Amino acid sequence: MVTNSVKLTDVKKSFNGHDVIKGVSLDVQKGEMVVFVGPSGCGKSTLLRLIAGLDTPTSGQIEIAGNDVTYAHPSKRGVAMVFQSYALYPHMTVADNIAFALKIQGLPKAEIDAKVRDVAEVLQLTHLLKRRPKALSGGQRQRVAIGRAIVREPDVFLFDEPLSNLDASLRGQMRVEIARLHTKLNATSVYVTHDQVEAMTLADKIVVLNAGRIEQIGAPMELYRKPANLFVAGFIGSPR
Ligand code: ADP
Ligand code: MG
Repeated sequence: MVTNSVKLTDVKKSFNGHDVIKGVSLDVQKGEMVVFVGPSGCGKSTLLRLIAGLDTPTSGQIEIAGNDVTYAHPSKRGVAMVFQSYALYPHMTVADNIAFALKIQGLPKAEIDAKVRDVAEVLQLTHLLKRRPKALSGGQRQRVAIGRAIVREPDVFLFDEPLSNLDASLRGQMRVEIARLHTKLNATSVYVTHDQVEAMTLADKIVVLNAGRIEQIGAPMELYRKPANLFVAGFIGSPR
């Protein structure tokens, strides 16, 4: 049985000769929430895009659910990504936004409708299904973006700073909601944030990145109590 959900082996990525990811190896187990933290520009989004297949590594290997997907098309990886910017289709209703990927897959309409209803219920979007994105609050839009990911039943959820555009109180609320969903769906998630509180409260494992390398991997309290170096101590220990 494969318990390894995402496996990176010595992944490197350079852009125009500039090394951005400098050899990252990582195991994410099924059911885990792994959070990437690190300063702006350290390569968090690039790593996530490599896992999603929005870009390919310069060298190294990426496996998902036991399959080598290093060069596989994004749609063949069993991943779904949630972005900071929501990326909803403005001209479509909430229901159509959630259903979009399933329509492309050619699922029967009755099946699509049932899945959209289920997802809407889980995310408390049922009363909003006929609205368009511009008639929603920021938190509601982010819920739709999450709904769009959930409805595809991916092996792995990828989150790139999904709450950065929300105000502080809503951010706290959505954080709790994401934690609840992750547990309820028994999901495997890789979550990028620069928010220390998000990392400490959501993560089973935190990966501290610095300039394209992993400084330390560990449970939140492990990093907090035994930071491997001053960089980790500064990043986990002090509020930012
Ligand atoms: P983070 O998400 O941690 O803030 P990124 O992964 O977005 O960092 O970026 C890491 C580094 O890679 C940055 O220096 C950025 O400018 C560079 N970079 C990212 N994508 C590209 C690209 N498509 N072309 C050139 N440089 C890039
Ligand atoms: Mg980023």
